[in-house]
Amino acid sequence: MRLKDLRREVLEANLELVRRGLVLYTFGNVSGISRAEGLIAIKPSGVPYETMSAEDIVVTDLEGRMVEGKLRPSSDLPTHVEIYKRFPKAGGVAHTHSEFATAWAQAGRPIPCFGTTHADYFHGAVPVTAKLTPEEIASAYEKNTGLAICRRFDELGTESIPAVLVAGHAPFCWGESAAEAAHHAVVLESVARMAYYTIGIHSGATPLSRELHDKHYLRKHGSTAYYGQANKSQ
Ligand SMILES: [Zn+2]
Repeated sequence: MRLKDLRREVLEANLELVRRGLVLYTFGNVSGISRAEGLIAIKPSGVPYETMSAEDIVVTDLEGRMVEGKLRPSSDLPTHVEIYKRFPKAGGVAHTHSEFATAWAQAGRPIPCFGTTHADYFHGAVPVTAKLTPEEIASAYEKNTGLAICRRFDELGTESIPAVLVAGHAPFCWGESAAEAAHHAVVLESVARMAYYTIGIHSGATPLSRELHDKHYLRKHGSTAYYGQANKSQ
């Protein structure tokens, strides 16, 4: 993908968060990566969404060094970088402070899979990271946030949950593109809201059976997927 197109896609994915009511003021950020060129395009730090243009999107290398753009990149860039390193298939990363997903992150509770909406996207409960230590907070905080995410997935041994809750902070989501990462952030917020309501209605609600969870996830993902159209251009 050309850099210009990547910037436009990243801008569009950032604006999608606004359209879906996931961000307040300048909260949140979406990035996209060109694996071929080793470059990341990300929202600039502290720029209002209303006035943001594709030219404002900052391009950096995988060390976070600026390659193109006049503005500073989002301060969360080092977290995005660690996610890109850990998940080679990730083409985009989205971070929001959307209310319900953030409430679960603040509670330090993984989001159980109570229904098929969740199972269609996330193959398991959406996990929570460990809390960062004072040392991890004191220096390289954003990078350490990314490393905490990576450690949690190393412990879980799964690549099939493109979302995580950072303890006491908020969610990060990823996907094959910036657009898909934003889409996952929107779905995660919906799933988080429904899980909250589910427990409110019945505090003893139990997660979906493994069979139904697998059925819904695997019919949309992986080699045995059959959901939707075989030819995606149709
Ligand atoms: Zn944040």
